[in-house]
Amino acid sequence: MEVDYIIVGQGLSGSFLSWNLLKAGKKVLVINDVQPYTASKVASGVINPVTGRRIVSTWMIDILLPFALEAYTNLGNDIGIELISQKNIIDFHPTPQMKLAFAERQPVEEKYLRYPANEQGLKEYFNFNFGAGEINPCYLIDVHLLLNGWREKLIENGSLWEETFDLNQLTTPNSSLTPYDLPLTTYKNVSAQKVIFCDGTKGFDSPFFNLLPYAKNKGEAVIVEIDGLPRTNIFKQGLSLVPWKENLWWVGSTYEWDFKDLLPSTAFRQKVEELLKFWIKLPYKIVDHIAAERPANMERRPFVGFHPVHPNMGILNGMGTKGCSLAPYFAHQLSENILNNALINPLADVKRFTKILSRGN
Ligand SMILES: Cc1cc2nc3c(=O)[nH]c(=O)nc-3n(C[C@H](O)[C@H](O)[C@H](O)COP(=O)(O)OP(=O)(O)OC[C@H]3O[C@@H](n4cnc5c(N)ncnc54)[C@H](O)[C@@H]3O)c2cc1C
Repeated sequence: MEVDYIIVGQGLSGSFLSWNLLKAGKKVLVINDVQPYTASKVASGVINPVTGRRIVSTWMIDILLPFALEAYTNLGNDIGIELISQKNIIDFHPTPQMKLAFAERQPVEEKYLRYPANEQGLKEYFNFNFGAGEINPCYLIDVHLLLNGWREKLIENGSLWEETFDLNQLTTPNSSLTPYDLPLTTYKNVSAQKVIFCDGTKGFDSPFFNLLPYAKNKGEAVIVEIDGLPRTNIFKQGLSLVPWKENLWWVGSTYEWDFKDLLPSTAFRQKVEELLKFWIKLPYKIVDHIAAERPANMERRPFVGFHPVHPNMGILNGMGTKGCSLAPYFAHQLSENILNNALINPLADVKRFTKILSRGN
């Protein structure tokens, strides 16, 4: 069997990359092992244009936000599911200092920061002591519907193998040849021009890309059933309360750089219980507790492009905490690079690590 590209992984990165390449008429094989808790499956799906205690707009957000809106709408149309909705964040200030910080930043970031139209009305559902701000526009992605819907399409198309990609079965061409002379890469009985790794934190051990400055980051969330809370917004008071499936809400998250395992922790569950007891006026029930690693990195910029020494080997990874906005945009840049030799943003292009990646080759 011959395909144009093999893509390893069907999280947000592999889904968008395979969607772009199939749309362009290319033959693609996606190989994904089915894991219950991957970064994409555990993510709340929020695209928030401002970040951190300093409340500053995030890298490239003025470009990423409209791009994401269009990409999720179009992918949703292709699979017949609505994937993106605008859900602004109502940000209850947890301390007087945070209230002040918001007031100071609001005139500077007025494109994204304002005050809720009816703060008094929020008192029906929530306890809060220091007022609230609003982050607007924010978007919510239904990542599960996306992954499942796109998976179905790939199966229909004969483009998905659900198994672990085994590097021992990969034969790569001689790296001293120029990209134009390269013979095909083969994996089992399949030959392909390129293999592109969208394998999240599993890729951190890849012999091709393991020298990149990755950093794993653990995140936990608790799933809570709450009847009667308006699903019009995302709410935040230290932690975020995000509409999940049906009458469920996602509460999270942690950002841990130093952790022993990927299990849900008692400490986080207790933190959520304490917060909810104070914050929510409606009855609620905790129904699940989930955790996964984010494929983050030291620079907070994604890894996109082709290996300087093994030009058949590509990567789309390192999305960190922002996969919902970064993956659609950089999957598009990578596919344009593949199809039309278009430039990849140098801050994301993996060629910035040419020296490091050339070591030992
Ligand atoms: C708790 C938590 C909350 C988050 N919330 C948000 C949020 O609200 N907004 C946001 O923008 N981002 C959020 N993120 C970050 C976001 O989830 C990630 O940036 C994004 O999902 C990364 O997608 P990915 O496709 O690159 O990687 P992954 O989702 O990890 O996908 C990798 C895929 O590759 C497969 N795979 C790996 N190795 C192999 C192999 N050898 N063979 C076959 N398949 C393989 C895996 O099974 C998986 O399906 C959150 C993350 C966490 C953990």
